[in-house]
Amino acid sequence: MGDDVYVVGHKSPDTDTVVSAIVYAKIKGYTPVTQGAINEETAFVLDKFGVPVPDDLGSAEGKKLVLVDHNEASQAPDNLDKAELVEIIDHHKMNFNWPDPIAIHVEPVGSTATILAKKYKDEVAKDKAMAGILLGALLSDTVIFKSPTTTEEDKSVAAELAKIAGIDDIESFGIDVKKSKADIAGKPIKDVVMADFKNFDFAGNKVGIGQTEVVDINDVYNRASEVMDFLNDLKEKEAYEMLIFIATDIIKEGSELYYVGDKAKMEKAFNTTVEGNSVWIPGLMSRKKQVVPVVDKVF
Ligand code: MN
Ligand code: MN
Repeated sequence: MGDDVYVVGHKSPDTDTVVSAIVYAKIKGYTPVTQGAINEETAFVLDKFGVPVPDDLGSAEGKKLVLVDHNEASQAPDNLDKAELVEIIDHHKMNFNWPDPIAIHVEPVGSTATILAKKYKDEVAKDKAMAGILLGALLSDTVIFKSPTTTEEDKSVAAELAKIAGIDDIESFGIDVKKSKADIAGKPIKDVVMADFKNFDFAGNKVGIGQTEVVDINDVYNRASEVMDFLNDLKEKEAYEMLIFIATDIIKEGSELYYVGDKAKMEKAFNTTVEGNSVWIPGLMSRKKQVVPVVDKVF
């Protein structure tokens, strides 16, 4: 028990983070765990291929950990400093410090699933369920190849995974994956904003950035005042310098950005004028590539 190695993804788990933990744990004989409950999209992908949902990590204290799909302390388990870190596998910018040398594998590709599918090609080729959930994770993170984070490698890896998993139409499987989470009607606004939410430390400032993907942006416009009430409340309660909620329309291929905080910083970051509480940015699909770097820069 004490020698178990736990593979864990980031807080507010998404499909890539959960699937990467499951697949890497299976290949290495480790134990996959999550930080918190999985979302509907991840449930759909795991269920489709009959893969069980991992347990919650609980406290990290005294445990050996592999971090997948993240490296920032703000997204890692609490008490990380009391855990023993073994390895990191990720595709995000590095904001990471550790007193000991550890193994780190980072590549600028569209998903952590892509890295694992490439590195463990032979193991994945023999395991239909593994290939299927990796494909679901890859399509989720790249927004079915529409996100600018998508690389040629993601596309060729996806084609390979689809063959193994017996998925004939990658595009329509991707839409099924995305749709499973996109229906926000009837969901409490807190769940919509916080389902995919990340904390960042930009030059000592606490900034939170949430994202949701919908197939019709009007579903979000109809609830704009709820979104703003929630953001204003959260900013005050948890002393954020700035909060941004990215509502991405995966069909129109753009995002409405709702924010609380310094308007001048928003205008500078996105090189636009902002009137009111939000702004539509055509072509914006990726928090990682099109929001985090430009907001980081203005702080
Ligand atoms: Mn992720
Ligand atoms: Mn990812």
